[in-house]
Amino acid sequence: MSKNKFATAINCLDGRTQLPVNSWLKKNFHVDYVDTITEPGPEKILNLYEDKAVINGIKKRVKISLGKHGSKILAVVAHHDCAGNPVKKARHLHDLRLAIANINRWKLKAEIIGLWVDSKWKVNRI
Ligand SMILES: [Zn+2]
Repeated sequence: MSKNKFATAINCLDGRTQLPVNSWLKKNFHVDYVDTITEPGPEKILNLYEDKAVINGIKKRVKISLGKHGSKILAVVAHHDCAGNPVKKARHLHDLRLAIANINRWKLKAEIIGLWVDSKWKVNRI
């Protein structure tokens, strides 16, 4: 187990989202590093829950972060102007809540939170 503190993020592959989310998690959860798993529009993927290969890939990476780095916090991220999930904000938040409900069934030993990255690239906890 690492002596550094880690958090875990399931974030979009969009390069505009990673630094804001990384900084927000470090500041708000007092962690040193953020392990980041990226997919395009992850909240849509994890809500629809159709592509089992992708879902299993995400789950596998989350478990490595939690198991090997001792992360206790898992953030699921949705954001403004997402190419992977080009919908309105309300739909992003809907997808995000249902994605978290699906991840809760994985029975992870971590707190799961939802983050919305807005049009100013500011991170908001939902
Ligand atoms: Zn995106």
